[in-house]
Amino acid sequence: MHLGVRVTTIARDDRCLTTDDGNTIRYDRLLLATGSSPRPLPKTMNNSHVAHLRTAAHAVDLRRKFRSARHLVIVGGGYIGLEVAFSARARGCSVTMVEVGPSHLGRTGSAALGSWALRTLESNGVDVRLNTSIAALSGSADEKTTVHLSDNEGIVADVMLAAIGVLPNCQIATSAGLATDNGIVVDAFGRTNDPAIFAAGEATRYPIAKLGGSFRTESWNASRNQAIVAAKSMAGLPTEAFDELPWNWSDLGRHSVQCLGMPAMGTKRLTIGDAAGDEWMEIFLDARETLVGCVTVNQSREMSKLRRALVKESGIPAGLLQRANIRPTAC
Ligand SMILES: Cc1cc2nc3c(=O)[nH]c(=O)nc-3n(C[C@H](O)[C@H](O)[C@H](O)COP(=O)(O)OP(=O)(O)OC[C@H]3O[C@@H](n4cnc5c(N)ncnc54)[C@H](O)[C@@H]3O)c2cc1C
Repeated sequence: MHLGVRVTTIARDDRCLTTDDGNTIRYDRLLLATGSSPRPLPKTMNNSHVAHLRTAAHAVDLRRKFRSARHLVIVGGGYIGLEVAFSARARGCSVTMVEVGPSHLGRTGSAALGSWALRTLESNGVDVRLNTSIAALSGSADEKTTVHLSDNEGIVADVMLAAIGVLPNCQIATSAGLATDNGIVVDAFGRTNDPAIFAAGEATRYPIAKLGGSFRTESWNASRNQAIVAAKSMAGLPTEAFDELPWNWSDLGRHSVQCLGMPAMGTKRLTIGDAAGDEWMEIFLDARETLVGCVTVNQSREMSKLRRALVKESGIPAGLLQRANIRPTAC
């Protein structure tokens, strides 16, 4: 175990790694599980009021900043931005959330989830700015910073959380000539284009046969189970291909939100419950009537049933379909 050590290069011909403490490490098989890093802000926007949330150290830093913070600006309306917004409100902080897109959770969720998130954030006192980005930060030396928005408004904040997504850590793979494309390209067994090198987790782009394409996903579940498949492949043990739909969950205040698969790929939608309320579910089907996504709000048990049914390949549970209160609608 080499802690505090970064791998800087992979010499594929010699099957060895060099590290930033000057050592070399030989390998017969190599697994790259380098994860992701927060998407950086432009250099001119970095000052001591800016926080990120990726590592334990980031979490400790954010908690320290929260002790004295009265106003928080969150840039980015994905899971991390939303979770911090609800936590900050629970601690009595006022929050402005700035999202460049037209809705929240746009990448993994659905239009109805975006509307629910907006309603729920606003009813929790969050000042939400959609279709807005940040143009500049000023006032770096004093206690507060001013966040200048694209509509020319300036918001004075104690802390600005940059929750604008992540970039895969594939630099060492790219420099070693491995195939990368918004992630280290692997097959369904975690194999890269070098037979001695495997990769798993958030750093990879991998095929999901159920969805008919290749994706880079940001889900703990995928990182864990894909890694098991890659480990078995490396050891030459029999294994099935990794073909799980990505699955994310989030606790937002008293609400539990889960997203499975890629709802945006659906052409038809089944809604169970009332999406104007706080307990509902959407199932997304493609043109072949195959499930490609699901969104639940406070319906975790139903999501578990659906996921179990997908593992058994037994189709959408009949009980769920009987509860669908409308016919499938086009997305
Ligand atoms: C705040 C937060 C909340 C999340 N919540 C959820 C959730 O509720 N549900 C969910 O499913 N997912 C969630 N995720 C996503 C989930 O945590 C990730 O998908 C998962 O941790 C990725 O695992 P990984 O092992 O691929 O990468 P990581 O956990 O990022 O680990 C990669 C490791 O590699 C190291 N590394 C990188 N480059 C090098 C190098 N050159 N040399 C040596 N070491 C290197 C890094 O330092 C790091 O320790 C969350 C993520 C964050 C940040």
